[in-house]
Amino acid sequence: MTRLRTAVIGVGHLGQHHARILSEFPDVELVGVVDANSDQAMTIAQRCRTRAFDRHEPLLDLVDAVSVVTPTSFHHHVAAEFLRNGIPVLVEKPMCKTVAEADELISLAREANVPLQVGHIERFNPAFEELAKRPIRPAFIEAERHGPYTGRSTDIGAVLDLMIHDLDLILSLVPGPVKDVSAVGAAVFGGHEDMVNARLVFESGCVAHVTASRISARPKRRLRIWASEGYAGIDFVSRKITLVQVNDEVRRHGLRVEKMDPTQRAKLKDEMFGRHLDVLNIDGDRKGDQLTNELRHFVDCVRANRTPRVTGEDGRDALALAHRVLDAVRSHAWDGNEDGPSVGPNRMPKPAGKLFELPKSQSEAA
Ligand code: NAD
Repeated sequence: MTRLRTAVIGVGHLGQHHARILSEFPDVELVGVVDANSDQAMTIAQRCRTRAFDRHEPLLDLVDAVSVVTPTSFHHHVAAEFLRNGIPVLVEKPMCKTVAEADELISLAREANVPLQVGHIERFNPAFEELAKRPIRPAFIEAERHGPYTGRSTDIGAVLDLMIHDLDLILSLVPGPVKDVSAVGAAVFGGHEDMVNARLVFESGCVAHVTASRISARPKRRLRIWASEGYAGIDFVSRKITLVQVNDEVRRHGLRVEKMDPTQRAKLKDEMFGRHLDVLNIDGDRKGDQLTNELRHFVDCVRANRTPRVTGEDGRDALALAHRVLDAVRSHAWDGNEDGPSVGPNRMPKPAGKLFELPKSQSEAA
């Protein structure tokens, strides 16, 4: 089998892992890596035993497919050039900065009839794959995505950087349009919003609460779903999923608490899970990591000219919803008055005071 010639454009924090994984696939030749920082390009090229470039243009004639992992502001320009030359693209999330840019990439991929995949990596998290293959119709969703401040992706805020992962997952699970979006957010360090909470109401009646923060001490990436079929809880960090459903007996007859004697009732709390509710815990950690799964899928789609699991349209829809959340954050009225002056993540109410004073020894050390 001839090897698929690929390159990675942007080999910073994430792109270097794209390059490493692609260089390890036996049916792939990593022709080169590109980075605007030529030292970084050289370091990663040496590590992956390939060539370093500081511009993507020379690769247009050398590759069969590319992975675009530059900062978001450059996604559209770089991806468009490869698509115009009929080269399939995996572009990191968020797909672009604007929906118009995303639509243009979709059109270019259609015209060239080549796969365009968007890097919504959690779709390839083995825990989410376990959920996606089951017949669940979410009624209420709670998504939390918290991480520490990394100093990267400062060209965007917490919605386009983090929340967009969960917006894509939710859109992949819940059919139909989103009717209402309300949201509140805060820019703690200035610039873009650092934490946001959004409430989405679908026309189907499903409600989703989504929180993203990039100023948390500990990472947390969790999705919880309640549905008439049961409950699903995913921990994306440990790649574990817990599924709960009422057992056949309860499904048929309900739980007749009024017919239980006091001893049986007293045991309910301890016997709930196991006796009345069936529980299945699945550890997806042994089923591979999501980035390898995502890149493998991309290479397979390019080889077969197949539509990828996460299409350009999916990337665009998640981006469009993310912009609705950002609009809601911007127009949030902190004083309750929609026409009042205190709106948006950068203009929170003035602090009423300091929450605490640091002990003298600590404040001197800082
Ligand atoms: P980064 O800043 O660490 O790396 C970006 C690299 O691109 C840098 O080395 C920079 O020098 C280089 N670069 C900038 N402009 C370029 C250009 N025009 N051509 C070539 N190289 C260029 O950022 P990162 O954290 O690796 O993020 C990169 C992208 O990946 C972002 O879009 C981000 O949103 C996305 N990302 C996705 C996930 C995920 O879970 N899917 C996680 C992290 C980052």
